[in-house]
Amino acid sequence: MKTDTRCVHSGSYFEKTTGGINTPIFTSSAFDYLDREDIPYPRYFNTVNQDAVVQKIAALEKAESGVLFSSGMAAMSTAILAFAGAGDHVVLMDELYGGTHAFATDTFARLGIAHTFAASTAEAIGAAVNDRTRVIVIESPTNPLLSVVDIARIVDIARARDITTIIDNTFATPINQKPLNLGIDIVVHSGTKYLGGHSDLCCGVAVTSQDRTESILHVARHLGGSLNAMTCYLLERSLKTLALRVTRQTANAQALADFLHRHPRVNQVYYPGLADAPGHATARAQMSGFGAMLSFELEGATADTDAFLRKLALIRPAVSLGGVETTICAPAVTSHEKMSPEERQRVGVTDGLLRLSVGIEHADDLIDDLDRALKPSAS
Ligand SMILES: *Cc1c(COP(=O)(O)O)cnc(C)c1O
Repeated sequence: MKTDTRCVHSGSYFEKTTGGINTPIFTSSAFDYLDREDIPYPRYFNTVNQDAVVQKIAALEKAESGVLFSSGMAAMSTAILAFAGAGDHVVLMDELYGGTHAFATDTFARLGIAHTFAASTAEAIGAAVNDRTRVIVIESPTNPLLSVVDIARIVDIARARDITTIIDNTFATPINQKPLNLGIDIVVHSGTKYLGGHSDLCCGVAVTSQDRTESILHVARHLGGSLNAMTCYLLERSLKTLALRVTRQTANAQALADFLHRHPRVNQVYYPGLADAPGHATARAQMSGFGAMLSFELEGATADTDAFLRKLALIRPAVSLGGVETTICAPAVTSHEKMSPEERQRVGVTDGLLRLSVGIEHADDLIDDLDRALKPSAS
């Protein structure tokens, strides 16, 4: 089956009583245990609604199985802790989702886990590895500068030393990138973003081999972080349109990137789909589409980002991303606000940087909105 077909058909539960074609919402947290082997319980991550969704996502990522969580951070933190403990070392890219960055900075030391942040290249990641490294955590494209790392080269480095690789595939989605095909061990998503896709739910997932799923489940059952049946259902419903949404969002993002790239009041556009982007060739080789996230920097005179955002009529200033509606935010005061100004400077998150999450609207309307806001003020 092609990915588009899997979005619709994989992992659905057949409801025998009525023949209804959707998975029913099973709300029970208590189950009759007589004469049954595998008793469902939400925090055991084994209910019908959890299974149906995780099977669909695993099918999209070409994984054997996985674990569904109540947030992307639950998925990421649990996956890391399943493979790194006291005395171990973890290498993470420094251009990482702010929450993952903060998790390493705030919590690893207390758990006895050492860590090193490396720049977004295979060379830098290789150089940061030592004899105690058990896990490498990467993201591609990155937030918010859309850097692209050569995934297969990082896999080579990790495999030579038996290190577990985790990628946060939230930005790319399985529609544009399937990291397990490139040799990555574990794919993590914040399902709050594209998988949910309507800015109305919070969830996460880690998909991988059956063996590694068992290791993640072992920790997950202690930490909790399971997803409720209602949200499982919303997610399952959303996933049926994932390919349609992301394909349209990706095409819109390319149109907006091309427009902004040509605009005299825009300094810099970060989008791997631009022919002159540093990661363009790598993205072309490892992605099937360049994604629907892009960032740009306003030119000096325009660089009051709040004033610019107030001039937009259609595009909403909002944190989070991946919804059907186009949203925009300044990472320096939102996703990367917890980083020190020095760290932000080092990873290139300037105060004038704006990040667009491109939706499914008509590209012409989005371009008109940006074009109007970019015009110099009349006064
Ligand atoms: C939002 C996000 C997360 C965290 O997900 P939550 O669902 O908010 O916990 C992790 N990684 C990336 C890339 C994200 O955008």
